Amino acid sequence: MLPKNVPVPTRLQKRPLDERGFLITYVTTIGTDGKPDFRIIDHFKVIECIEERICGLCGESIGPLVSLIGGEECVVRRQFSDPPMHPECARYASQVCPFLTNQNAKYHNRDNPPAGIEVFSLPHISSQRPKRMAIYTTRAYDIMRFRTPGSRMVHCAIKPQKAVLKLEWF
Ligand SMILES: [Zn+2]
Repeated sequence: MLPKNVPVPTRLQKRPLDERGFLITYVTTIGTDGKPDFRIIDHFKVIECIEERICGLCGESIGPLVSLIGGEECVVRRQFSDPPMHPECARYASQVCPFLTNQNAKYHNRDNPPAGIEVFSLPHISSQRPKRMAIYTTRAYDIMRFRTPGSRMVHCAIKPQKAVLKLEWF
């Protein structure tokens, strides 16, 4: 359910809800039964968001400021693998997303993906939530592309500008 005490940004108000009242983000995987599977994000939509500068939460174009969410290591390495977001969408996610707000939450269960979904993980990405996470807001980013041997999937990561405009830890 959507927490009642956190106002939903206008763009996210347009997103559909599932039968329990959870907000279905742009990159949420929709299963063959037409139902969202929140355990896993749609790899191809993530790539689309990164390449086209589209918000991974609301699915709309991002303006001059772009926010990225990641742990300390992402900030230090300046490398983020989750899709870019509007600053207000990222802030909302940091307040309500069960995975982002629960210190003990485990990452999506990548060992048990829904049928037909190929899961790609980079070896350096931890399966535990980092102790603290940040919203990294900047203007521009470069795109890094990876391909693992034996896989047809290409994975993108975001290398934001060094000039971070705002860094908010949560
Ligand atoms: Zn957005």
